[in-house]
Amino acid sequence: MMVVGRFAPTPSGLLHLGNLFCSLLAWLSARSQGGEMLLRIEDLDTARTSPAYTDQAKRDLLALGLTWDREGEPQSRRSGFYQACLERLEAQGLVYPCFCSRGELHAASAPHASDGDVIYSGKCRGLTPDQVAELRKLKSPALRLRVPEETVTFTDLHYGPCSQDLAAECGDFILRRSDGVFAYQLAVAADDAAMGVTEVVRGRDLLSSTPRQLTLYRLLGETPPAFGHTPLLLAPGGRRLSKRDRDDSLAGLLDRGCTPQQVVGGLAYLAGLLDRPQPAAPAELIPLFDWGKVPTRDVTLPEDLFPSA
Ligand code: GLU
Repeated sequence: MMVVGRFAPTPSGLLHLGNLFCSLLAWLSARSQGGEMLLRIEDLDTARTSPAYTDQAKRDLLALGLTWDREGEPQSRRSGFYQACLERLEAQGLVYPCFCSRGELHAASAPHASDGDVIYSGKCRGLTPDQVAELRKLKSPALRLRVPEETVTFTDLHYGPCSQDLAAECGDFILRRSDGVFAYQLAVAADDAAMGVTEVVRGRDLLSSTPRQLTLYRLLGETPPAFGHTPLLLAPGGRRLSKRDRDDSLAGLLDRGCTPQQVVGGLAYLAGLLDRPQPAAPAELIPLFDWGKVPTRDVTLPEDLFPSA
């Protein structure tokens, strides 16, 4: 079966070096298996994203030589499809409205999952139809998935065996926000399935989302892709990279006199694929790609790898 990898950028700012690091590894993993790449713009939340950042993300990927074979429809145009997926879950009795306010969700006693999200208490799980009808007069609800009582297990291509007790460690999660915007978890799983993606390579910050997505695949009757997570790239000093900081972007590096090939070579060096940070094109790295060489611990950019701002 043909491997199909993907780039799934959210155009809420400039892609930062960490986004480019994941993109390089996603591309190398797919290409080293003779696979294809899909590009899908994750502009679900149109209030936080912009067409200018979409165009810039495409230009950045192409400037580095990270090509794609087809482009999926951007998420902002797919709400009808997400609604149909939601209805498939509703038909199984797995969706319920939640009227909790932000304050209630973030009450001091609320337990937190490993990714910092609040584990939902289940307060609205047992509302009667009459209570729902009354509450709907006051506000529109978010919609949550009633998560099955099960431990989800999978083997990450890079981090190996992983498991999560969904009810205890994550809780009922949001499928559609109260403002009508579909949640990332639903959109990404539904899209990857519909667009034929067989391999998802992305940053380790999304490792803990994978059990939720695997559950959605199962409930929607879809075959899940393989998942491979990459370590996160941190700025010198350990600071998180930011999409708001031009210094962390490709444009910032090009301003400082770096060539795209120096950027690719530097990222490949940090990924353990090159012994030294020497200029390289992605295609030259294909034969060198091996998950076994990629570190599992997060990687801090050395001060002197790229010219500093
Ligand atoms: N759109 C997400 C981001 O840019 C990535 C989603 C994913 O890879 O599943 O962070």
